[in-house]
Amino acid sequence: SKPSYKWQRVLLKVSGEALAGDHTQNIDPKVAIVVGGGNIFRGASAAGNSGLDRSSADYIGMLATVMNAIFLQATMESIGIPTRVQTAFRMSEVAEPYIRRRAVRHLEKGRVVIFAAGTGNPFFTTDTAAALRCAEINAEVVLKATNVDGVYDDNPRRNPNARLLDTLTYQEVTSKDLSVMDMTAITLCQENNIPVVVFNLNQPGNIAKAIQGERVGTLIGG
Ligand code: UDP
Repeated sequence: SKPSYKWQRVLLKVSGEALAGDHTQNIDPKVAIVVGGGNIFRGASAAGNSGLDRSSADYIGMLATVMNAIFLQATMESIGIPTRVQTAFRMSEVAEPYIRRRAVRHLEKGRVVIFAAGTGNPFFTTDTAAALRCAEINAEVVLKATNVDGVYDDNPRRNPNARLLDTLTYQEVTSKDLSVMDMTAITLCQENNIPVVVFNLNQPGNIAKAIQGERVGTLIGG
């Protein structure tokens, strides 16, 4: 049988694209979620295509993650999961500001905490926000929900013989440029010994498996 891990607290990273699908899954209370915004707006590409400066574009991107967070909150509460949204910059009429100790308190009380607005800084990504919040709230793992089964040794769209990898080291991710997450995010995980599980969100039951510490997708560590 495959090895399993009993996580006490996890940080689930859900990209914007993943939210665009329709799936309902059970989510364990000891879960914090960092939500992306790429389904609505991505700063770097928007800035390249227009006269928009990068920082402004990134603030729009961060606001996009707030939209997704509110959507996710409403959806989760409609199926009876208590949640709190915390934003990296103040939007007090809409959500709580990010306060680390308060976030931890919510988790202890069995609420799912949804972190929105990324890190609050332009030039970063929500993957980096996931690594950062994971370290801050002492979660044990970043569970990166994506649209692919995990990390391959080559691009599966171009190479039909590309193999899905079971495990990977941080070193391999950075040196082989496997585009799992951006460098800032992966090195932050490495420096803080945070394992990352990359798995497919579209496969029913996968979120529950990942949260319960069953092996899904690719495990990055050591
Ligand atoms: N963003 C940012 N700082 C952050 C996190 C996000 O400026 O700390 C902006 C950035 O423009 C990014 C957009 O928000 O393109 C949406 O986030 P991301 O691309 O990480 O979303 P995902 O790919 O997870 O859907």
